[in-house]
Amino acid sequence: MRFEDQRQLLVKELYHNGISDPLVLHAFAKVPREAYVLPELREYAYRNQPLPIHLKQTISQPLMVALMLQHLELKPQDIVLEIGTGSGYEAALLAEIVSEVCTIERLEALSMNAKKILKEQGYKNIWFRIGDGALGWQKAYPPYEVFNKIVVSAAAPQIPDNLVAQLAVDGILVVPVGNSDYQILTKIRNANNDILTSEHGQCAFVPLITTC
Ligand code: SAH
Repeated sequence: MRFEDQRQLLVKELYHNGISDPLVLHAFAKVPREAYVLPELREYAYRNQPLPIHLKQTISQPLMVALMLQHLELKPQDIVLEIGTGSGYEAALLAEIVSEVCTIERLEALSMNAKKILKEQGYKNIWFRIGDGALGWQKAYPPYEVFNKIVVSAAAPQIPDNLVAQLAVDGILVVPVGNSDYQILTKIRNANNDILTSEHGQCAFVPLITTC
């Protein structure tokens, strides 16, 4: 089956599994996941499962990415910070929906590779930084101090304070919180500087490697 047709089937699968945000479904219908997986795994690009990428990391499971994006309640004017660029797939999905995406990856080779693919795919609204994303967006261009939405694609041992501090008013942070075996997808909302936390089920991500 052609990749285009497989992509439409994946979108249907996401819809039947509770993804109803039209912006999220539209982004999944547009972004070619086969461009972000290892060439030898392209035939598996539309299976709803994580796949290995370089340096023992993974491209996350599509349904999990869709759930995180849906929890972010994305709006076209949003400026979004992503921690864990990895393959660049989630950055591409975000860049289809919002105005600007800032993405941090600790592994230089992954960041460079994602930057190359995302450039080839024509994105001009993604900014890259190499470093520890748990520190937040610092000493980087554009010099944003706060973000409307922040998403962490790796498992944090606890809610990262520096990221909560970079949430704009009404901003939302989505982060898997827990150890390497068991994490809870956690949503933090900065409601007029009242920090509201809610939990949204179990998930499995590679660990966030941080010095904080
Ligand atoms: N969003 C990615 C998922 C990548 S997996 C995708 O769509 O493919 C998580 C990524 O987080 C890995 O690439 C890992 O190297 C990175 N990571 C782990 N700890 C990090 C940290 N402290 N700062 C930035 N990136 C980190």
